[in-house]
Amino acid sequence: MSLSSLEKNLNQLQDLRERFRREPIKHLIDGEWVSSSNKETFINGSPIDESIIGEVALGTQQDVDEACQAAHNAFSDWAAMSGAKRRELLHAIADSIEANAEEIALVESLDTGQPIRFMSKAAIRGAENYRYFADMAPSARDGLALPAQKHMNYTVRQPIGPVGVITPWNTPFMLSTWKIAPALAAGCTVVHKPAEWSPCTAALLARLMEEAGLPKGVINTVHGLGETTGKALTENALIRAIAFVGESATGSNIIRQGAETLKRVHFELGGKNPVIVFDDADLDRAEDAVIFMIYSLNGERCTSSSRLLIQESIADEFIERIKKRVRSLRVGHPLDPDTEIGPLIHASHLEKVISYFEVARREGAIIAAGGTKIDVQGKGHFVEPTLLTEADSSMRIAQEEIFGPVLTVIDFKDEEEAVTLANNVKYGLAGYVWTSNTGRSVRMAENLDVGMVWVNSENNRHLSAPFGGMKASGIGRDGGDYSFDFYMETKNICIATGEHTIPKLGKAPKS
Ligand code: NAD
Repeated sequence: MSLSSLEKNLNQLQDLRERFRREPIKHLIDGEWVSSSNKETFINGSPIDESIIGEVALGTQQDVDEACQAAHNAFSDWAAMSGAKRRELLHAIADSIEANAEEIALVESLDTGQPIRFMSKAAIRGAENYRYFADMAPSARDGLALPAQKHMNYTVRQPIGPVGVITPWNTPFMLSTWKIAPALAAGCTVVHKPAEWSPCTAALLARLMEEAGLPKGVINTVHGLGETTGKALTENALIRAIAFVGESATGSNIIRQGAETLKRVHFELGGKNPVIVFDDADLDRAEDAVIFMIYSLNGERCTSSSRLLIQESIADEFIERIKKRVRSLRVGHPLDPDTEIGPLIHASHLEKVISYFEVARREGAIIAAGGTKIDVQGKGHFVEPTLLTEADSSMRIAQEEIFGPVLTVIDFKDEEEAVTLANNVKYGLAGYVWTSNTGRSVRMAENLDVGMVWVNSENNRHLSAPFGGMKASGIGRDGGDYSFDFYMETKNICIATGEHTIPKLGKAPKS
């Protein structure tokens, strides 16, 4: 453990912690930092040592209504602002995220338990999201020219209106920027409801956006619980659409809550993603990717490859290799740059993840590595990275999203069985395929019921590419122009260019 770097990071955090302890996190509503209307707060703790980080305003119905009203009032001016001016403002936000990247990364680690080695990149990725969509802002309204005989059709896009953005606790900073940046670039105003388990970097992001010069009411952040604050946002009639990232069951609730006001929804939900390794794969690279895609970010990652489907002929050898790697993963303080796995977000999430070890035993799987809760310096929500082998597809450990550093291994005979097993879950977010056979990689990509397939690759994401899932993993796609399709209305305009026949009703003599 590189103690000196850990100590340096802890020292740097000291001032930030003082600030959070002194000043409760407030809502940003209509350009003002405000407490909740009834002054209520909730306590936010750190998963590292269960210490209190600080108090957070607990959003009421009135707070949400005021934020939605502010977003509504700000909408027409923001939508009318030139794309070039919006581009300038979004680049200014990206500049300040970059300037504060270290602080964001440290606070994100403190609040979520994510290792600092991943969080420093997440802050920079957040800035990239703003830059990418900033440059798209001037052309967001452009539509298509669709000529027809004697008519010219063309389309234009207009921002849909004020939108609600509801985000989860896993990599909360990056995921918030991913939703908010395209919404602002499109010309929408935003009310953001961050996850109650990780409010800190959402508050930092709101501050950076305000300081960068966003007009008041364009971004509003209301903290609070999902069942009350989040629900109020999804039910508010002034909000035209909800962009949501979180659990599939919450997605169902949001559809119900938004039904009355006919909300447009964009959902990025859970996953139980397969990584399929064939015996002709480059096993060294496959091994690195399998380990990275489930054990990075504490396994609290929607695109994690939580099911390893391994071809029978190489199963024993490959599982041995994976087992060795899992046992060597470094669990520790997330602010230590050497740490590969930090504590899980919350005591109740830790309980959920641990409960699957007993489920695995009952179902007849083998815990080949890990399988227990551990303490780091006697505290925290730490769990050993875990490998579950000899599983079959009907088991809960093969069907349910555990959302921790837990990999379930199932073997398969041939390509046909691999596809059947891969698709035999309610989710359909991502699939990873490792093979050196080009034809097979194309067939597999075609046959997997998932929104994204990576072949001989870990999750390398390009901002222009569509991101999203099928089945219980989501509705809609993010990324590039796909984001604008959600945040904007497409309008078709049809102009006659010649004299087409118009039926002449009412011209014939009445009998
Ligand atoms: P969650 O659904 O419990 O909470 C997400 C957000 O929704 C929080 O802000 C919460 O307060 C709010 N919420 C809860 N109930 C609500 C309600 N009734 N109305 C309105 N808002 C409500 O999810 P989580 O536990 O925070 O996050 C983990 C989940 O997110 C996992 O299932 C993971 O797979 C998923 N996820 C998906 C993607 C993706 O891109 N597909 C990305 C990241 C996370």
